[in-house]
Amino acid sequence: MARYTGAVCRLCRREGMKLFLKGTKCTSDKCPIEKRNFAPGQHGRDRKAKIVGYGLQLREKQKARRIYFALEGQFRDYYEKAARTPGVTGELLLQQLELRLDNVTFRLGFASSRRQARQLVRHGHVEVNGRKVNIPSYQVGVGDEIKIRPNSEKLTVVESSREFASHNPSPSWLSIEPNSLSGKVLALPKRDDINLPVNEQLIVELYSK
Ligand code: SF4
Repeated sequence: MARYTGAVCRLCRREGMKLFLKGTKCTSDKCPIEKRNFAPGQHGRDRKAKIVGYGLQLREKQKARRIYFALEGQFRDYYEKAARTPGVTGELLLQQLELRLDNVTFRLGFASSRRQARQLVRHGHVEVNGRKVNIPSYQVGVGDEIKIRPNSEKLTVVESSREFASHNPSPSWLSIEPNSLSGKVLALPKRDDINLPVNEQLIVELYSK
């Protein structure tokens, strides 16, 4: 399965903001954005052009894609599905991204970043409704139970993530059972539930041209 394998901190620097892609490092003073908040590359420091119109729409799309580690084709598929579904397209797009299994694993606090959650899923440490699922983009639905598999409960990464997540409030659309390392999807996430620095309307405008 294809995935981005480059340096992730460059992605934040390109967007000019913290995208929180590396867990604990993002809240420490080791975060490169703290010291080098300019675009990566030889001329990154000089590039200060004001972004408007298409450029702005493109940046919003890239930002959302990078936060969820979705590749271009897959991201467009999310948009196409959202556009076919009755409702607000931008919100439906974000809803699909939030319902990815790797994202839900992260939101439940079993990993300190979406990237780490993706790896947990890929390595078979997560089950949905009692069955192992190792597809990070798997879409969970209302009522689904997501759980760290019994043999994986003692993984250091899971234990340290629980500690890290205990300082953050859990989303209202998920219920978390910390003792059994499991959680349930209570409802579909609404826009207000999705705390994301993305203007989804600009993404819709970009794709609907
Ligand atoms: Fe982004 Fe985190 Fe890297 Fe900072 S440490 S640049 S927030 S991924």
